[in-house]
Amino acid sequence: MHEFSICSALLEQVAALAGKRGASAVQRITIEVGPLSGVDPGLLQAAFAVLRTGSCSAGANLFIDTPPVRIRCMACGAESITPPNRLACAQCGSFRSRIVEGDELRLRRVEMSVPALPPKQTVRSAASIH
Ligand SMILES: [Zn+2]
Repeated sequence: MHEFSICSALLEQVAALAGKRGASAVQRITIEVGPLSGVDPGLLQAAFAVLRTGSCSAGANLFIDTPPVRIRCMACGAESITPPNRLACAQCGSFRSRIVEGDELRLRRVEMSVPALPPKQTVRSAASIH
């Protein structure tokens, strides 16, 4: 399953971040999954529940943010937010559009505990997962 390989790539990225910071455990992982990314958030959660076992994220929660779909119209240049199944310009109704946001899959934030530092550290990231 697609979501399993994405999830294991995600866990590797998180483990690398945790290793760099000398973190003992990861508490919370926030990712952004666009409605057009082709990834099912439910399947991703299910994969996470299985794959986190034995990793530094074993006790972590996965939060999935779903950003809106934003397009730029090639006809009139307007940017609009549209439902994922109808990528038409809100200004002029043209379907000639480019996706500005909505197809991303991104690691946003990792919260981890690092011994000898204030208990909670947040690492912000904008790295693409795959
Ligand atoms: Zn337009």
